[in-house]
Amino acid sequence: MKKTVLITGASSGFGKSAAKLFYNNGWNVIATMRSPEKETELSPLDGLLLTRLDVTDKASIQSAISAGIEKFGQIDVLVNNAGYGAMGALEAASEEQIKQQFDVNLFGVIAVTQAVLPILRRQKSGIIINVSSVGGRVTFPFSSLYHATKFAMEGLTESMQYELNPLGIQLKIVEPGGYKTEFAGRSMDLFGANGMEDYKPSFDRFITMLDHWPMSENIGEVAEAIYEAATDGTEKLRYPVGHDAAQLLQNRQQTDDVSFKKQMAAQTGI
Ligand code: NAP
Repeated sequence: MKKTVLITGASSGFGKSAAKLFYNNGWNVIATMRSPEKETELSPLDGLLLTRLDVTDKASIQSAISAGIEKFGQIDVLVNNAGYGAMGALEAASEEQIKQQFDVNLFGVIAVTQAVLPILRRQKSGIIINVSSVGGRVTFPFSSLYHATKFAMEGLTESMQYELNPLGIQLKIVEPGGYKTEFAGRSMDLFGANGMEDYKPSFDRFITMLDHWPMSENIGEVAEAIYEAATDGTEKLRYPVGHDAAQLLQNRQQTDDVSFKKQMAAQTGI
């Protein structure tokens, strides 16, 4: 029987790439996004369900899940992919910017997961794949809010294994390095330093670092990692992916906090 995947944030980047990969491998795909009416690449795919889901809008989560169940009868894999980065000095972030970062990257993941879990429990099977980041275990300057959400996602996912594995439900964390999606463009909330001079020299260096970061164009690699997590049948929890990911994670694991901060200063001048 054909399996079914529900993906959030399928309008671009990893989410869209994963939707295409699952579809091409014969899966039923529920491709969800905030504005499905704007989508042109996925809409012609016969049998794919394109439906609205804003992770901050619980009614839209419920109606996307209901539409998926009505069309396909089950959900085997949930990919919590929707997310974005709010970048700048913590002091400069408005309450609204802080709230939105957590609402999308963390509370949105929790809301979609809670809404899908009754279905997975009923089936006594299912896989939840959370798209975290190398930034779920390694920090960079001026990204404290983003890291707060992704570090939280890692703890959330790792702990949920204990209560869900006995019910037949697996948890997975995909940790991409830097990729050229809309992440560093349209999706980024670069609120900066809000004119506070004290932060300006370091923030300017952060912008230089962002501009020079070797972003990979091969976003299909991340879709492949998501697909592997959905199909490899192992208990493996974390799937780092990208030319920079394994090295960054390994280096962080092997380096104490003070030495790591010194390395960052040597590399970025911050
Ligand atoms: P992207 O192309 O900007 O895609 C982000 C997706 O999230 C878009 O579909 C966007 O929808 C969606 N989204 C944002 N807010 C949403 C909301 N409230 N409800 C539903 N969807 C929402 O960037 P991406 O790189 O593919 O990002 C996907 C995930 O990978 C994110 O969780 C990101 O943190 C993570 N990641 C990215 C990188 C990287 O270098 N690219 C590295 C590590 C981790 P709209 O089109 O409606 O805005």
